[in-house]
Amino acid sequence: MSGYFDTKIEYLKGVGPQKAELLNKELQIFTFGELISHYPFRYEDRTTFYKINQLNADLQHVQVVGQIVSVETLGEGRRKRLVAYFKDETGVMELTWFKGIQWVSKKLITGVPYVVFGKPNQFGRKFSIAHPEFEPITQLKEEKSYLQPIYPTTEKLKNRFLDSKGISKIMEILLNQSLGLLPETLPGYLMEANRLIPKRDAIYHIHFPANEQMLQRARYRLKFEEFFFLQLRLLKLKLTRTEKFRGQPLQQTGLLTRFYNENLPFELTNAQKRVIREIYSDLKSGKQMNRLIQGDVGSGKTIVAFICILVAIDSGTQTCLMAPTEILAFQHYESLKPFAEKMGLRLALLTGSTKKSQREIIHRDLISGNLPILIGTHALLEDVVQFKNLGLAIIDEQHRFGVAQRAKLWGKNLTFYPHVLVMTATPIPRTLAMTLYGDLDISVIDELPIGRKAIQTVHRYDKDRLKVFGFLKKEIDMGRQVYMVYPLIEESEKMDLKSLMDGHESICRAFPQYPIGVLHGNMKPVDKDFEMARFVKGETKIMVATTVIEVGVNVPNATVMVVENAERFGLSQLHQLRGRVGRGSSQSYCVLMTKYELSKDSRIRLETMVRTNNGFEIADVDLRLRGPGDLTGTQQSGITDLKLADLSQDAGILTQARDAARDLLEKDPQISLPEHAAVYTQIQKQTKQALNWSRIS
Ligand code: ADP
Ligand code: MG
Repeated sequence: MSGYFDTKIEYLKGVGPQKAELLNKELQIFTFGELISHYPFRYEDRTTFYKINQLNADLQHVQVVGQIVSVETLGEGRRKRLVAYFKDETGVMELTWFKGIQWVSKKLITGVPYVVFGKPNQFGRKFSIAHPEFEPITQLKEEKSYLQPIYPTTEKLKNRFLDSKGISKIMEILLNQSLGLLPETLPGYLMEANRLIPKRDAIYHIHFPANEQMLQRARYRLKFEEFFFLQLRLLKLKLTRTEKFRGQPLQQTGLLTRFYNENLPFELTNAQKRVIREIYSDLKSGKQMNRLIQGDVGSGKTIVAFICILVAIDSGTQTCLMAPTEILAFQHYESLKPFAEKMGLRLALLTGSTKKSQREIIHRDLISGNLPILIGTHALLEDVVQFKNLGLAIIDEQHRFGVAQRAKLWGKNLTFYPHVLVMTATPIPRTLAMTLYGDLDISVIDELPIGRKAIQTVHRYDKDRLKVFGFLKKEIDMGRQVYMVYPLIEESEKMDLKSLMDGHESICRAFPQYPIGVLHGNMKPVDKDFEMARFVKGETKIMVATTVIEVGVNVPNATVMVVENAERFGLSQLHQLRGRVGRGSSQSYCVLMTKYELSKDSRIRLETMVRTNNGFEIADVDLRLRGPGDLTGTQQSGITDLKLADLSQDAGILTQARDAARDLLEKDPQISLPEHAAVYTQIQKQTKQALNWSRIS
């Protein structure tokens, strides 16, 4: 009977071909099934009535009972409007119409009790409602206590009588004839364990809630279901992969012990230790690891990576670390070199600008197995780069690399896929990570090394610039260095460069006594490296840059990050930029400069930055402000399937649904038990839809 819900919407009574075409075009509703899951986005309480003297401008919608005293037409031409004076026993208010004046004025009868409904606006001490809904009391049905659904609709649909009320009417027709046919998608034991109401009840009450409580239960059930199937698909994928892909067991710890005893420069944090244990248990398991390490800037991911490298080498394999830019690759090389050298291990750097002769030596030593550690950029994905036995591939800053590149790394070892460790400093909320990286296991370094001073962040307006400059001077005179970051103006690289160059000029004028460097994306790699190197060595005191310095660079002596036009940056970007300072033992600062007028969202972003240094908290706010749709990779991940569920607000439901999905797969990995027949059908259906999507996009 499932085909029933694939019936074209035009065959629904009250719809027909013309309205159907509009529903197709305007709301992408083609079938009965799609109409059923066109959920209301809010509900209006038609059970409460207000008196006119209780109105205030903060109320969203109100219902008032009263009578029309008189009606008049005011104004001329485009300003022409119909005004009805409406009173109850506590006062008088105005009802106004700017359109449909003739039609409305015919319907309005003085002296008859009406109920009117709409958003009250305040003008001085008077209230008015523009284009209210109105109904004579005599027609007021004996309503049960109910919440009226408000559906998303469009102007074109409204003109065809498919406003929210119109949609609600066809919905009622559809539910009356089809609710009994709607299949249950979740097994009974699972609904019981999670206290979920049946699908049919949920669908009924999401459209026509009997009361607030039923509405909540309906929403809960439907959100749970959305998360459940999303997670089930992701976990199933992961299961298939771990079954299929064996990994070579890496478990030797001799080198590691020597490193711990002789060369470890500091005590590892508990978070670092925990993550290392998680990775180690993957490496030795005989299954291929695909793990993501999330750790805020400065949380110490590099040393964790090095420790994993040691295990892999000790077990007779080679390792590589891939970074998204030359600067970053170079920095990784520089920071791993001292460790590697102390352990007597060779390492090499391979980027686009590695000389041919050098390249050839690297290629040769990789294939012979003489080079245990290779660090580089995309250059190491090239086919000529072949290893004798690549055991572990580490990818830094995941958000710059795609899944395809990860897959390419897999292909570097033909006998076993190498273990893959992805490191990212972009904290994303766990809920989102579970979904975006559902096919990866996740480890979180949620602790900074002790003794780190929290970065102090302030928000300053452009008019305070002189004071800010004074502060910079003081810091530089104490031997510290400063970053000044200018925004990327996306419309034009030229303008972008201009704002940076103007900035550079004014900084040079303001600080003639200090050497100043410039860094931007249009520079040649060698020039970038040159500028960066001067700053690292402390030869330049101020680095004027675009966001090219956003990722990863490590200059412990830099203590101040000034961000110009900070209102133009996203939260995660601001957080990344701030992470460039606070890397040494001295107090560091982040100064966010903005103009005076700011949008509400900009203000929230700046306040959040000032309030907290916690990347996960920042990521949560970011997710709330932008929604998950803006994050990369959401299309493939199935996040777009979520109609009701909200990753930033429904973390609790997500966890519960994920646990349920995991339990189900543990019990029935193939989803073939009779009690899971409905689940299987649903998964098949969604997979088909997902395929269609990927073909379209
Ligand atoms: P990120 O996670 O941003 O890549 P890094 O690995 O670059 O962070 O580490 C930041 C700084 O903290 C480095 O200078 C590193 O040597 C230092 N560090 C890392 N772990 C510890 C620790 N457990 N105790 C003290 N310092 C540490
Ligand atoms: Mg790093």
